[in-house]
Amino acid sequence: MNTNEIIEYENLLKLNSSFFQEYNTVFNDVLNSGWYIMGNQVAQFEKSFANYCGAKHCIGVANGLDALMLSLKIYNFPEDSEVIVPSNTYIATILSITQNGFKPVLVEPDIATYNIDPLLIRKSITSKTKAIMIVHLYGKPCNMEPIIEICKEFNLKLIEDCAQSHGAKYKGKMTGTFGDAGAFSFYPTKNLGALGDAGAVVTNDDEVADKIRTIRNYGSKVKYYNEVAGYNSRLDELQAAFLSVKLKSIEKITEHKRKLAEIYDKKISNAFIKPVKNNDYYDVFHIYNIRHEKRDQLKQYLLDNGVKTEIHYPVSPNKQQAMIGTLDSFNTPISEEIHKTTLSLPISYYHTEENIVKVCEIINAFPT
Ligand SMILES: *Cc1c(COP(=O)(O)O)cnc(C)c1O
Repeated sequence: MNTNEIIEYENLLKLNSSFFQEYNTVFNDVLNSGWYIMGNQVAQFEKSFANYCGAKHCIGVANGLDALMLSLKIYNFPEDSEVIVPSNTYIATILSITQNGFKPVLVEPDIATYNIDPLLIRKSITSKTKAIMIVHLYGKPCNMEPIIEICKEFNLKLIEDCAQSHGAKYKGKMTGTFGDAGAFSFYPTKNLGALGDAGAVVTNDDEVADKIRTIRNYGSKVKYYNEVAGYNSRLDELQAAFLSVKLKSIEKITEHKRKLAEIYDKKISNAFIKPVKNNDYYDVFHIYNIRHEKRDQLKQYLLDNGVKTEIHYPVSPNKQQAMIGTLDSFNTPISEEIHKTTLSLPISYYHTEENIVKVCEIINAFPT
């Protein structure tokens, strides 16, 4: 390996290159079929993805945000309803709540797992709380048992944001199958990524499935007859075909990322905070993050040494300009601490074990 070679954080061309041949084949199939939105390819992918998740239904939609937004929309909650959501999530989770006209109620994460702290959920429940929207952040499942207990006790809907957790399991059970709905994104950088925007909802509930199927296509089951005021959130044939190709390799992708994570776990010195390990959590490492109090210096040092990194996320949702008046009343010291110290390391399907060993060596030489 060229010692001066830059190790990128992600490279979508390299990530997808091993699938090019099959992508070309299915592209030609779809092109020649003359059918481009919601046809056999979508039906086939929905079946395969439901099967992969161990869910009864999968409904393809336009993107991950819509998967979340529509999963909430179908319940017709009153306008001042509250939805509990982790304070350190990506903005999309929050927007799926505000787009429905509901109030996001931020709950802080457990600093060890970065996922919503079940102990803090109870304190945030009011008579207006209708649902909990959890996020299996970075690809690590949430602590599901206490969350499910709370949902039962307070009769709350449970929606799982699985945009980063394709194939992640809690005690052997797939994320996306614990709640009323599991919302997936297939944005190109996700563990199961398309070549454009795409998303899906998985559910074991026949009524939820039926409602999502209707609302994603203008609220129409029979062409030109509209039962509800719906949306245009359809999945197209090309993206479904590309996704079916990649889905066949999802286990290989996950295993590769877990192998790279293991190298990081073993080799990075304890001067850096690494992801917590626990046999109950089968982590798919959409993101592998470390934390360090000199995060910004570490990021620059790595860049100077040819390693590109990312920050997920530099600013918490309640500090975003867009959320002034909506979320700025929440005080979130744990999230602030994570946002200030977290750094995401390269962990793509195309990175080699040698790449990762090199990153570890450079990190360990950081003058702390
Ligand atoms: C990517 C992502 C989304 C949104 O998915 P899109 O397909 O970009 O709409 C939602 N939540 C989380 C946690 C994400 O990482």
